[in-house]
Amino acid sequence: MFNEHKWKNINLEKYKNEIFLKKKYDNSIISKFDIKDYEYIKIINNLLNGIPFAIKDNFSTKKVMTTSASKIIKEFIPAYDSTVFTKLVENGGIPLFKSNLDELAIGSTGLTSNYGDVCNPFDKEYIVGGSSSGSNYLVADGTVSFSIGSDTGDSVRKPAAYTGIIGFKPTWGIVSRFGLYDFAPTFDTVGWFTNIVKESALLLDVLQGFDEKDYSSIKPKDKDFLKNIDMKNEKYKIVVIPVLEEQIINKEILKDYKKAINLLKEDGHKIIEANDVEIRKLSTILSVYRVISSIEAFSCNSNLTGFNFGDYFDEGNNYEEKIINARTKGFGYEVKKRFLWSRESIYSEEKYYFKAIKLRTLINEEINRILSMGDVLMIPGTADLADNINNINNFPSDHLLNNFLTIFNSNGSPSLTMPITKNNHLSTTVNISSLPFHDKKVFKLSNRLEELL
Ligand code: GLN
Repeated sequence: MFNEHKWKNINLEKYKNEIFLKKKYDNSIISKFDIKDYEYIKIINNLLNGIPFAIKDNFSTKKVMTTSASKIIKEFIPAYDSTVFTKLVENGGIPLFKSNLDELAIGSTGLTSNYGDVCNPFDKEYIVGGSSSGSNYLVADGTVSFSIGSDTGDSVRKPAAYTGIIGFKPTWGIVSRFGLYDFAPTFDTVGWFTNIVKESALLLDVLQGFDEKDYSSIKPKDKDFLKNIDMKNEKYKIVVIPVLEEQIINKEILKDYKKAINLLKEDGHKIIEANDVEIRKLSTILSVYRVISSIEAFSCNSNLTGFNFGDYFDEGNNYEEKIINARTKGFGYEVKKRFLWSRESIYSEEKYYFKAIKLRTLINEEINRILSMGDVLMIPGTADLADNINNINNFPSDHLLNNFLTIFNSNGSPSLTMPITKNNHLSTTVNISSLPFHDKKVFKLSNRLEELL
């Protein structure tokens, strides 16, 4: 069954072409693999039968430098492979590229990397989204069939909306993060980009599993996502949140969101309107995320001193001066900004961190209550279409719908963004999520919607 799956856009011949391998694809690639280097990994299961992929440059690969797009660890080559990378190769996937990202996976535009800006492959005037900018670009333009990213706040699902492809993050903990550079571990998940929902389900079959090397690994409770993806005669209860419709900025998004609801209704599914949602609680997500993710990021990156990794060792007369030099030169603006937020959150008299932890519990309770009203929750994928590169404001607005996807990082839900009308950088999308460990429901309903479309 799995080996019969045909991947879209696959033209293996083009990968042998010299020009293909020399191109940089609008900065979407940081480095390239030499497939011969991976003969030490034995193929144990051929679920990915020779499919080429890209992986974000914050996943450790022991033969290729892993920079996380930061100057402070430029040219750093890790001592081990990330579990995700090993599993992909063990399943017959062919690694082609390490893809560009917003530095340390912190960002949402694709414009805060030290390896150049990544633009939308369909129109260079528009953003491709971040932080998994290169991974999004390379699937959207058909260079690879799938790519791996990481999703801490929405970094796979929101960029996917800006190019009209599928972006998925599984239940927190069921895919190993061993070898993925931490940003904010209580939110971080591995995620991926594909052209169709079935490919996304197949990747969860390949990648999920308990990993003793990952301290946060959780035993999966389900399996065979692709094999069981057809709904047959099952009908779902689909929860929608009517007040979110007022937050949609672009009219086409509203029209297509309603179209998706109608298609599913006509297909026999029941639409449940959640009218008693405590919007004030959910609206605190951006502040909660800013405080907790910055503090976790600051803590996790405290080893980046210029001593252990990177080549700033000689600059400065004493330990403190050396670190100040390394960090001043090694980190970009967005990363410094987050580290300053973290300092403010920890040292201010307001005790923001403790408040944020309490609020996070309330947010999680509320979203889990809403998700429990049905099988899945369907919301608009974004409030607006991709921004023009010249109009970018790196401070995200506190518009709830713009930050809603982060709620599913807060509570650990599986969550998938998919296109309704595919029109290059102007695609409209919806997002489908469920309670944690119900990844199968997300795939089943998304796949059904894709069929109906
Ligand atoms: N936009 C979020 C941020 O800038 C998402 C980052 C992510 O998911 N890696 O923090």
